[in-house]
Amino acid sequence: MIAGKRCFIVLPMPSRKRPVRRANRVAILGGGPSGATAGALLARAGVDVVLFARNKRPPIIVGESLVPAIVPFLRELGIEEEVASYSIWKGGATFIHDKEYTQSFRFHEVRGAKTTYSYNVPRDRFDASVLEAARRAGARVIEHSARLERVGQSDRLKLSEETLAAAGLDEQPDFIVDAGGRSRQIVRLLEIPTIDGNRRDTALHAHFEGVEVEIPGNVHTDRLEHGWSWRIPLPGRVSIGIVIDSEFIGRFGDTAEEQMDGFLREDPIVRDFARPARRVTPVVRYTNYQSRSTRGVGENWAMLGDAFGFIDPVFSSGLLIAFEGARDLAHALLEGTDKALQRYERKTEHSLASWQRVIGWFYNGRLLTLFRVGEYVRGTLPGKLLGFHFRKHMPRIFTGEDATNRYSLGLVEFMVKHGLAGNDPIKMKIN
Ligand SMILES: Cc1cc2nc3c(=O)[nH]c(=O)nc-3n(C[C@H](O)[C@H](O)[C@H](O)COP(=O)(O)OP(=O)(O)OC[C@H]3O[C@@H](n4cnc5c(N)ncnc54)[C@H](O)[C@@H]3O)c2cc1C
Repeated sequence: MIAGKRCFIVLPMPSRKRPVRRANRVAILGGGPSGATAGALLARAGVDVVLFARNKRPPIIVGESLVPAIVPFLRELGIEEEVASYSIWKGGATFIHDKEYTQSFRFHEVRGAKTTYSYNVPRDRFDASVLEAARRAGARVIEHSARLERVGQSDRLKLSEETLAAAGLDEQPDFIVDAGGRSRQIVRLLEIPTIDGNRRDTALHAHFEGVEVEIPGNVHTDRLEHGWSWRIPLPGRVSIGIVIDSEFIGRFGDTAEEQMDGFLREDPIVRDFARPARRVTPVVRYTNYQSRSTRGVGENWAMLGDAFGFIDPVFSSGLLIAFEGARDLAHALLEGTDKALQRYERKTEHSLASWQRVIGWFYNGRLLTLFRVGEYVRGTLPGKLLGFHFRKHMPRIFTGEDATNRYSLGLVEFMVKHGLAGNDPIKMKIN
């Protein structure tokens, strides 16, 4: 592959005949969920893993709602019980369409579901659990901010001398993984083009006491006049996030605190549950987060988790993509062929593109319209006949178990285009 271009070049062929070049020494930048999971899986398989975990993190970490398909990864890492001990058990999801209409889904009603629950997690403790699992598996965790350099004008990367020294290494690793989240060191270093989403939203995130939720444990998505908000129940508090057009939120002030507090006071839906609330953390602001790289692997490197791409907070896909990517990348590195690495790249690209489709249907109003039509149709004869089939394929996209399944996605695509029973989706669009 050529740096800076997405290409399907003919030469050199990623050939099956190439000798297997299994990476015996792997350096991972980033001790978040993706890096730590990859580190744990590789170290367990006998790979010498150095994991650079920078200590700098915001006062609260975004990404607290897990989809059910993540739970098997927690079991695999041996941390489910520990995570359960400090998290909130999550049985489903609630969508507040507007002041009149609320709809809730329970994971145990999903036909064919392998996992029927999940967790809402305080991310500082969750990240620490995953990192500890990597340590237990034998990964060497170095609390240091790693810096990469390009080797000449080639596609190869190396650790800077100072980074090598911080880890006590006297030679370069065989392979480097950028799992450093949205700081995206490789994208910047190799000037790799990105595909950026079309939303220009700002997400503001803080924790509150005294906030009500409709169904305890459920993640709540409130559709607002401007944008949408989340409510994620955590032990003793509720995480609130508002996702709103950047220009609009600017009216409420300059600081993240002014914007969030002002918006919560004024928005007609949010102010109902926010009135008795007390904010107990600073507000953290995120912008320009919808971005994915057009490459995921190179000569001696790969991107993982958010460093490869992040689509959008709605539907909580980020951590699932991070865990699945970690598993797939670890398999590819253990197989040790170019072909395996390219398979990892394609699979992750497919996953990001699949979520992009689903999330597009949320923002253009078609998905919420379909949910509403579905509730009505369920009581009719055709609804009863077809419901058996839909109940298996559609919800499993949102629990993460079928998120990349082409048939399930095609079925939803067909329904959001042709199954809205004459209802205009524009009414449910997210402004
Ligand atoms: C507004 C918003 C809301 C979200 N809500 C959800 C949600 O509810 N559910 C969900 O599943 N996902 C959510 N996400 C996405 C989720 O937070 C991410 O997908 C997930 O954290 C990705 O994990 P990661 O390990 O790839 O990256 P991160 O969690 O960002 O971890 C990367 C780590 O690497 C460290 N690092 C960076 N550079 C270096 C370096 N040079 N050296 C050493 N360490 C380094 C960072 O400090 C960090 O600790 C949300 C995202 C946003 C923006």
